Amino acid sequence: MPDPREWEKMRQSLPKQWLHRPLLEGRLSLNYECFKADFKEQDIKKLPSHLCTSALLSKMILVALKKEIVLENNELEKITAELLYSLQWCEELDNPPAFLTGFCEMLEKMNITYDNLCGLGNTSGLLHLLFNRSMEHGTLWSLIIAKLVLSGSVSPDDVKQHYRRKEGFFPLTEGKMHTIQSLCPFLPEDDKKEFIAQCVPALLAWAEEGLGSTNGGFGHLAILNSCLQTRSIDDGELFHGILNILMCWKKDHEDIFLFSCDLSGVSPEVLGVNVEIVRFLSLFLRCCSSPLAEKEWDFILCSMLAWLETTRENYALRSVPLVQLLACVSCALACELSAFFDSTTRDPAGRLPANLVSEWKEFFSQGIHNLLLPLLVTVTGESRDTSETAFQNAVLKPMCETLTYVPKDQLLSHKLPARLIAGQKTNLPEHLQTLLNTLAPLLLFGARPVQIAVYQMLYKLMPELPQYDQDNLKSYGDEEEEPALSPPAALMSLLHAQEDLLESILGCVPVGQVVAIQPLSQDFCSVLGYLLTWKLILTFFKAASSQLRALYSMYLRKTKSLNKLLYHLFRLMPENPTCTDAAAEPSKEPKTFFTEEVQLSIRETATLPYHIPHLACSVYHMTLKDLPAMVRLWWNSSEKRVFNVVDRFTSKYVSSVLSLQEIASVQTSTQLFNGMTVKARATTREVMATYSIEDIVIELIIQLPSNYPLGSITVESGRRVGVAVQQWRNWMLQLSTYLTHQNGSIMEGLALWKNNVDKRFEGVEDCMICFSVIHGFNYSLPKKACRTCKKKFHSACLYKWFTSSNKSTCPLCRETFF
Ligand SMILES: [Zn+2]
Ligand SMILES: [Zn+2]
Repeated sequence: MPDPREWEKMRQSLPKQWLHRPLLEGRLSLNYECFKADFKEQDIKKLPSHLCTSALLSKMILVALKKEIVLENNELEKITAELLYSLQWCEELDNPPAFLTGFCEMLEKMNITYDNLCGLGNTSGLLHLLFNRSMEHGTLWSLIIAKLVLSGSVSPDDVKQHYRRKEGFFPLTEGKMHTIQSLCPFLPEDDKKEFIAQCVPALLAWAEEGLGSTNGGFGHLAILNSCLQTRSIDDGELFHGILNILMCWKKDHEDIFLFSCDLSGVSPEVLGVNVEIVRFLSLFLRCCSSPLAEKEWDFILCSMLAWLETTRENYALRSVPLVQLLACVSCALACELSAFFDSTTRDPAGRLPANLVSEWKEFFSQGIHNLLLPLLVTVTGESRDTSETAFQNAVLKPMCETLTYVPKDQLLSHKLPARLIAGQKTNLPEHLQTLLNTLAPLLLFGARPVQIAVYQMLYKLMPELPQYDQDNLKSYGDEEEEPALSPPAALMSLLHAQEDLLESILGCVPVGQVVAIQPLSQDFCSVLGYLLTWKLILTFFKAASSQLRALYSMYLRKTKSLNKLLYHLFRLMPENPTCTDAAAEPSKEPKTFFTEEVQLSIRETATLPYHIPHLACSVYHMTLKDLPAMVRLWWNSSEKRVFNVVDRFTSKYVSSVLSLQEIASVQTSTQLFNGMTVKARATTREVMATYSIEDIVIELIIQLPSNYPLGSITVESGRRVGVAVQQWRNWMLQLSTYLTHQNGSIMEGLALWKNNVDKRFEGVEDCMICFSVIHGFNYSLPKKACRTCKKKFHSACLYKWFTSSNKSTCPLCRETFF
């Protein structure tokens, strides 16, 4: 049996990485540097002796007890406690190596478990031992108690037996502080109130040298934070009182506030107390509902910005745990503030003074993003280990979440260093090219928070981009057969790289067979990046004019990108896309991934398994809505089996949603046509358009098919007054051409058709090849005239005529066409 000193030595040699999560989650507070900055040396390569020894002795004890051998000196309790210590150590590790999890599973199979050992001995004796060790040493011992209460093995009342008097916790030591922190989530409100009552006067009493010590400012503030975090009572006065104390600290001891400074020579005590101050300010914003005075706002906002500056300047020290922790809590405070102002600007009846809101917008929000956007570029440029759970990347989560709040105008006026790519075909101004070339590649970055934040930022920019192509549209002749325009080049080149990755992940799976992507795996990251890129491209596409969309879709057809996407989507969408929402009312229409908008939260990880399937459905929905003609083309040319899979799935889950949306958008449309009225009927899925000019009336009825928009839309005639049969047939045919070939809504199809008919009445002559004024695919007018017969044709129609007839003669007079 090892003696207490030997046990202590074995505990000490357990690698210290377990501290990462308790520190980040605020379950434990620290104010000393617990391990060397370079913890790569501490990589866990073999089973720690503490784990082996405690497991082996536990097994021996189980055998001994079976043989009814009497144990002395509480041996059972002592060994159980050591086993629990080892197991808690394993549980706290971020990415435990496989041999370690394997070992723990083996212990369970061999019945070497807490329950089994406790069943044989005296639980209250064990708890007494654990509690005393927690009070003395804190750290993992305190976490074990929290774990036992959380798992229901021990009740909070059992623990209470061991501390009847709260005064016993003071003066504070690390062990006592950690014990209170671990008990906090289970303490009744009255007990927390008592602890708070002990801590507040203590905060007032400390002079500068005591602020960073455990029995001083640091320790008491840490306990206050733990109590307030789990407290359900809104205690406004208390919050303001503590804030006031902190403001006095700032006045009397400004040098302990780590504002815009170099952290390399700063003591861990000072880092520790700063972490607790920042944490308190975040809690204040989240929990205190009474209004803040102007100087309180000033203090919080200015401090936040100064801490962020420290974060940026000390990024190189990120592997020092307390520096990383300060960076995390500072970004979390910036995020809390962004969320706060975001919600109050959306709610104009907010309780904030107007000058505060404008100060936020013009100064503080601008300041946050001027610091964080370049920092994102630095961090992502340097990270070697990009996984989301690596401690060095812990700051990515709060930082990226803050960046999702960047307003569009601040993005547009960014100060990033120019990044232009030679040979990139684009009409965008240089500052936008820089932004796109800097951010877009990060959609492929290995950590999800970065991917989502970059997506959110680019999403805001997409509607701004098509206008630059629109301005240059006239320089593209419609005779060019090579697609002259593409969606943003930065996105398209990224897409091509991702297509190769996706092919390697999904290529071998038959279409229609669903692939489950393991959350946070490498594949997850690739698929997420690919789908987000498509969402951006489709958002861009939606914001473009019909004429531009015709050009962009030519490009997508040529690269076959959309076809590849559709094949992949039918491997990623779930067989049944119904949301598993237990609270949903059974009488209502079931909620599906097609009726609900996908929420990609950075912080919330519980919904991660649904991210990919939901996102895939969302992308499919967008392609059907905004690129219906191209999806139809792909569907019609796909092999029989795929054709049926797509038809069945789309009719069952998407068509009715889309038809209803189309009909509703007709009904709520504010677009006014001069001389045309449009009505829609949801029950019969019909849209009726009546066109009248002078004595002429044409009524057309558009019928959406049950597998809309895959099947063809039929156009039937209603009333017809004053139009010749031939002309009227022509117009019906044209409407159905426009609706079939255009990648847009029914309203847009109708607008095109009306434009066509109007042009005819204005005297513009039809093209003699296709009998339309406006070309059905590229929306151009007949411009090429034959020199002999003077008739005009669309360039695209002529080109088709020349290549199919293999001659360059006029289709009408047969003279050579110049
Ligand atoms: Zn034509
Ligand atoms: Zn001619």
